[in-house]
Amino acid sequence: MYGYQCEYCEGTVQSRLLKREAFKHRDGFVILENVSIGVCNNCGNRYYSADILHRVNDVATGKTPVERVEQIPVVQVRLSA
Ligand SMILES: [Zn+2]
Repeated sequence: MYGYQCEYCEGTVQSRLLKREAFKHRDGFVILENVSIGVCNNCGNRYYSADILHRVNDVATGKTPVERVEQIPVVQVRLSA
């Protein structure tokens, strides 16, 4: 699934199993647990397979029932000049 060359450097994208990863979608975030993503072994850029993106979309649109909903703390950071 991974193993191709990174788009941004000479590194190789390698499969890595993550306990949890947050994915942004149109209306918010979805967290997938025990998900395999691709990570460049040189620059660390992350790659998501079409399979993962489909899964995120299915959760976002309600096609896949969620196991639980967690609250995410939000903080507004005001940048001072
Ligand atoms: Zn890279």
